[in-house]
Amino acid sequence: MGSDNTSNGTSPNAKTWRPQTRMVRGGLERTGFSETSEALFLTSGYVYGSAEEAQESFDGTRERYVYSRFRNPTVAMFEDRLAGIEGAEACRATASGMAAVHAALLCQVKAGDRVVASRALFGSCSWIITELMPRYGITPVLVEGTDLDQWREALSQPTACVFIETPSNPTLEIIDIPAVAELAHKAGARLVVDNVFATPVLQSPLALGADVVVYSATKHIDGQGRCLGGAILSDAAFINDVLGPYLRHTGPALSPFNAWVLLKGLETLDLRIERHCANALKVAHFLESRIGKGLKRVIYPGLDSHPQRALASRQMRAGGSIVVFEVEGGREGAYRVMNGLRLVDISNNLGDAKSLITHPSTTTHQRLPAEEKMAMGVTEGMIRLSVGLEDAQDLIEDLEAALSV
Ligand SMILES: *Cc1c(COP(=O)(O)O)cnc(C)c1O
Repeated sequence: MGSDNTSNGTSPNAKTWRPQTRMVRGGLERTGFSETSEALFLTSGYVYGSAEEAQESFDGTRERYVYSRFRNPTVAMFEDRLAGIEGAEACRATASGMAAVHAALLCQVKAGDRVVASRALFGSCSWIITELMPRYGITPVLVEGTDLDQWREALSQPTACVFIETPSNPTLEIIDIPAVAELAHKAGARLVVDNVFATPVLQSPLALGADVVVYSATKHIDGQGRCLGGAILSDAAFINDVLGPYLRHTGPALSPFNAWVLLKGLETLDLRIERHCANALKVAHFLESRIGKGLKRVIYPGLDSHPQRALASRQMRAGGSIVVFEVEGGREGAYRVMNGLRLVDISNNLGDAKSLITHPSTTTHQRLPAEEKMAMGVTEGMIRLSVGLEDAQDLIEDLEAALSV
């Protein structure tokens, strides 16, 4: 294997490859045509050479592709590549980030269980935990993610599962992953981390003590606004025995076409994240210079002014692509700035090559009652900017013009 240049692409050295090499070559499995780029297997099913082979494929004596709801070669390449990048034993891909969150949580809980989560969550994650789970007799407990005393208190009783998102959306709060992991394990719970904002390039929750990592691959992994996807990573026992049957029988499978797009996205992930972070830091510094001149506050984990700067630099390699700022004049002030932009687009998506801006209070977090928004720190003047890959100076000039309207 790997001894000649028409090999199947796998290498005996794959385990020692550094992250950027894994992003480009991990999981690659070439067909007999020796193609350079990964093959796209747009097939729902597979054929058998004999009735006996079909039987053996179903009774488990033969390992092979059976049906694309279970496995597909292009999807498997994406899963194996992402597992290598994350340093996880196994990965399963899903049709969207929400399918990943839903399956990662629901596959491991049952009536009578308790689930503890941080309050500042992506809206649909919060819906699954606070609206859906109670219908099935699962009790949700929400805590202030940054307050370890609240975690200690909530996890002083037996718990099945803990769910956090860090940095959080939209207030970019940082949750101490090793500390919460330790408390979760003492309570008998698995810790599930939604790592969308940090990406596998900037934060490795499994190495910090988490048990399961989930992604919306729609965001930075695609990174170019083309398709939806999700992924769940953990140890082989969880993926094969707990999650596997749940996915196989409920069917949130990722399309092979989307898997192929996401697989190619992984090849440039490291480069793109580096540029996203460099641009975001420049934009954050510029915005900080405008505090007192129309701007009240800037939140970015890479700034010294971030309230949890020390924790952020312990568990993240850089500040990420999202910058949040609060303008004077509440909603009206926020709308004036957003409508004054000529380059940055108004969109609720994030992690795209194009810079995108949104007003969380009236879009992504609109459903939340006013008290909840207040508790989460989502104010009317707050704007979330997903910094893209354009020239940072063009972004700064666009923001400067919009802030002077
Ligand atoms: C977007 C997002 C999701 C959901 O992902 P989809 O691919 O849109 O289903 C979950 N968590 C976070 C933090 C997100 O930003």
